[in-house]
Amino acid sequence: MKVIKVSKQGFCNGVKRALDLVYKTIEENKNNKPIYILGELMNNEFVSNKLDELGVITIKSYGMKRVEMLENIDDGIIILTAHGVSPEVIKILEEKNLKYVDTTCPFIIKTKDIINSYLTNDYDVVYLGKDNHPESEGVIGINPKKIHLITSYDDIDKLNISNDKILITTQTTLRRDHLNIMLEYLMYKYPNSVFKDGVCNSAILRQEALINEITGDLCLVVGDTISSNANELAKIGSRYIPTYLINSIDDIKKEWLIGVKVITLTSAASTPDELTNSIYEYLINLD
Ligand code: SF4
Repeated sequence: MKVIKVSKQGFCNGVKRALDLVYKTIEENKNNKPIYILGELMNNEFVSNKLDELGVITIKSYGMKRVEMLENIDDGIIILTAHGVSPEVIKILEEKNLKYVDTTCPFIIKTKDIINSYLTNDYDVVYLGKDNHPESEGVIGINPKKIHLITSYDDIDKLNISNDKILITTQTTLRRDHLNIMLEYLMYKYPNSVFKDGVCNSAILRQEALINEITGDLCLVVGDTISSNANELAKIGSRYIPTYLINSIDDIKKEWLIGVKVITLTSAASTPDELTNSIYEYLINLD
């Protein structure tokens, strides 16, 4: 089987940094305190399983907010994921006197800093993001009354902001085409708004590389179903050729491969190269 690996894929700098901080925390934990990760570190089951083996406990969200997930934790070291958290989470950690390691991606911190500076200047903030996502939860939590989460056209229709000062910004993993359509509609409704693009270049570069390089009969995106950027890549691939999101060799169905000669292989910003490489090796050795 011929397999074409997309040139830009795999861990982004934010994810690499988060994982390095987890390993550093494990190494420095001389008193063997329990180490908890508040939510999935990087939306990848393969990585979660590896960390489980090292004794790190991932507190899965199961639809809960970060604040609720902290309710039963009273000791140990808490690792905050690259998605970031709301100020309320930090307040609770400090009230409980819990040691924590914040791996929030610098890119997300930058958007939060912009939001904070506009809020200080009495702006309302329209945040284009995803519902029930830890990144948007962390951002909205800065000021739930002044930051309005928008996920659809309907939300824009319902939006009723009387303030003339409006900042529009975005979650890092929004698809560019979706963002552009929503932005156009928002600017029509609130023409004097200031726009600050929060989409992360890592996600864009992976999306553009896939668009430019996708070829053959089948595209496989290695990533977890809960990873936003993995799902975006799969949606993009589907526009061109049959595309599937997989997280292991076991996910590959034999019927997908019937008549297939060339496969495009890519992976999300939260997918370790180790996993993608093992899938690549498996595919190139197929008859
Ligand atoms: S995708 Fe971008 S925002 Fe998200 S962790 Fe990676 S570098 Fe940070």
